[in-house]
Amino acid sequence: TIRWGLIGASNIAREYVINAIRHNDGETVAVMSASADRARDYAAANGIPNATDDLDALLARPDIDAVYISTTNELHRDQAIAAAKAGKHILCEKPLALTLADAHAAVNAAKAAGVVFATNHHLRNAGAHRAMRHAIQDGRIGRPLAARVFHAVYLPPSLQGWRINAPAAGGGVILDIAVHDADTLRFVLDDEPESVVAITQSSGMASAGLEDAVMTSVTFRSGLIAQTHDAFTAQYAGTGFEVHGTEGSLIAHDVMTQKPIGSVMLRNKDGEHPLPFDHNDLYVRALGAFHAAIRGEGQPAATGEDGIRSLAFGLAVAEAARTGMAVKVETGL
Ligand code: NDP
Repeated sequence: TIRWGLIGASNIAREYVINAIRHNDGETVAVMSASADRARDYAAANGIPNATDDLDALLARPDIDAVYISTTNELHRDQAIAAAKAGKHILCEKPLALTLADAHAAVNAAKAAGVVFATNHHLRNAGAHRAMRHAIQDGRIGRPLAARVFHAVYLPPSLQGWRINAPAAGGGVILDIAVHDADTLRFVLDDEPESVVAITQSSGMASAGLEDAVMTSVTFRSGLIAQTHDAFTAQYAGTGFEVHGTEGSLIAHDVMTQKPIGSVMLRNKDGEHPLPFDHNDLYVRALGAFHAAIRGEGQPAATGEDGIRSLAFGLAVAEAARTGMAVKVETGL
């Protein structure tokens, strides 16, 4: 049994990750919040036996093997470094940090400590995206030439907090959603983004200079070109992911989501063929891979390096939007 400490009394832990830990025979031993009251309430509401507002106390517990960091983004780095020094395996939320140097510092601390480090990019665990990756590897669309990612969603009122009003916490749609596009594109295409141009929008939902929508155009190492559209403000757009190749197109609807839903269709000279895929819970699969990695069996679904790469993309998008110039995606790897 892997025994977990939760760093951050967050919505994502409550809705998905606690369940995924328990589905993989893990135990949630303790939760830490900046507020002792919130920690206690959260522990009681979620069946967690211990609560604390002291990170060091949580990390000093010998009955914790791994931590899940799902605080706001500016806190990830220091919490990850402290966890690594305490010898705990680390599942960290995206973005890993607010700067590339900080993300490297977190990942390097885990490496130095010999603990497993993973980034919680859930989408590469979706059956739909795995089916698309396999179809491309099998040559079913020929040479991929272009991809389009539709990830403009509506931020529910319950989440209209730090994401739209707190630049210091790493708010804004780029660090929230565009980083997931980067990871999913990298995974499905088995390719690396090299350069990006971008425009952002601040339509009134986000404040304090933060963007609530962004569109990008990206060139990849292979020569493929991609577009992404992310938003907090699109109530009725629906999501999608398309890859267009020399011999066929993959067209997926409703797949940029936390749920194992949606559809994938292959269209080619013979017509339209739905691609079957598994509908397993994305987070359950991610936690299964993480537990296996702790046992020495393979890598987590998304590694620390994957988290560095998606952050590098997000930072390049932000700079491209700010300057109006094409920006190279520099990962420092
Ligand atoms: P939340 O806003 O739910 O939680 C973030 C922090 O905000 C918590 O750690 C908590 O601090 C504080 N907080 C939460 N609720 C309250 C409240 N009612 N009053 C005061 N403080 C509160 O964030 P999310 O769960 O939406 O996101 C957390 C992290 O997870 C982010 O890094 C985000 O990018 C990532 N994320 C990833 C997803 C994925 O699928 N990979 C999906 C959603 C989010 P404290 O712990 O100190 O109490």
